[in-house]
Amino acid sequence: MKEYSLTRSYEMFSRAEQIVPHGYQGPQNPRFYDFGHAPVFLKRGEGCHVWDVDGNEYIDYLCALGAIVLGMRHPVVEEAARKQSETGDCMTFPSDKWLELAEYMVNRIPKMDWAIFAKNGSDVTSYLTQVARAHTGKPGIVMIHHAYHGFHFWCSSPASSIPPEYQSHIYPFHFNDIEDFEKVVQDHKGQLAAVMLTPVRHDIASDQELPEPGFFNKIREICDKEGMLLLLDDVRCGFRYHENGSAEYFGVDADMIAFGKAMSNGYPISVAMGKKKLMDAARTFLFIGTHFYSAAPMAASLACLKEIKASGAVAHMLQMGELLRKGILDSAKAHGIGVRYSGHPTMPLLMFEDDPLFAKAKRFCALAAERGVIFHPIHNWFLSAAHKKKDIEKTIGVCDECFKML
Ligand code: PMP
Repeated sequence: MKEYSLTRSYEMFSRAEQIVPHGYQGPQNPRFYDFGHAPVFLKRGEGCHVWDVDGNEYIDYLCALGAIVLGMRHPVVEEAARKQSETGDCMTFPSDKWLELAEYMVNRIPKMDWAIFAKNGSDVTSYLTQVARAHTGKPGIVMIHHAYHGFHFWCSSPASSIPPEYQSHIYPFHFNDIEDFEKVVQDHKGQLAAVMLTPVRHDIASDQELPEPGFFNKIREICDKEGMLLLLDDVRCGFRYHENGSAEYFGVDADMIAFGKAMSNGYPISVAMGKKKLMDAARTFLFIGTHFYSAAPMAASLACLKEIKASGAVAHMLQMGELLRKGILDSAKAHGIGVRYSGHPTMPLLMFEDDPLFAKAKRFCALAAERGVIFHPIHNWFLSAAHKKKDIEKTIGVCDECFKML
């Protein structure tokens, strides 16, 4: 058996750091891990398996941070994208696939009457705030404390690179805390365009939190009373809890929804959708990018969304997620290790008791990587439809060894 080594990954990373800020950015960066103990560059992916540049093989629980929902190189999606690329991808006008996808999504996503496509989650969450402001004529956006909606100015952490006025009119409240929401709304009464929500609280480095019963209904009531819109950022969760999106799963009556990631199994596309009453506001400003009409991601998205439904991917991911949760919790208990396993079973996060600096979590992820499993110490994990029972069983075996060593 090949010995585990990361020599090439880290040689490449030291070169990358010379010429790219941070080497590369995002929670995948090896400095989020026990540095030197996690793969940095990959060569190949297939299903739920990836191979790094040193030739090590892993079962991957990050799934391109949620973009991969059916498994890497899914044949149905790849075939659709390939066929479209051969015909034409980036062309002057939108392709027929553009209209087909828009009509398909409007039919599939309950209560949404229109759709507009972009490339990233950041594009479409920001766009929702613009439509809301155009519709209401008000500047204020309420959002959940620390929620990630992308890298754009309005929702980034305050930084010297962002003039404070770019973040004025943004008011945070705590997820699941209706009293806090009411207070924020009263404090800014008459100035608020919308509240932006995520279906769950999936912050980095913190226990994941599901909505309490009645949370979304109560927010809806207050929005209606105050003339605010309810925006749902379903970029990370979309098509993982429910094949028609998380609004249907949790019963959220959203005015607009942003999707990205899982809608295309890894191809670059995102979509903003809204109720009919917002169509006029959406016509008042420009929302365009050079590659917004690329046809291959649209073909991929059509194939992916249909395949999620046809294959029962959502039910499978839930089943595998529950199996993983039980296996990990049983094993931690057997070894007397205190852990918290939070979030929806398809997007969980494992945290350790008495681990304020995540040293145990990092050690656990390093041990798991050496044994062929990619987790993340502080970002939620993702299951995909390609994770099969044998992968989960192997993973639980690896976790058992890691707990033993911890
Ligand atoms: N919203 C949420 C909830 C996300 O998780 C992300 C990405 N992690 C975004 C928006 C931004 O998406 P993107 O990275 O595609 O711009």
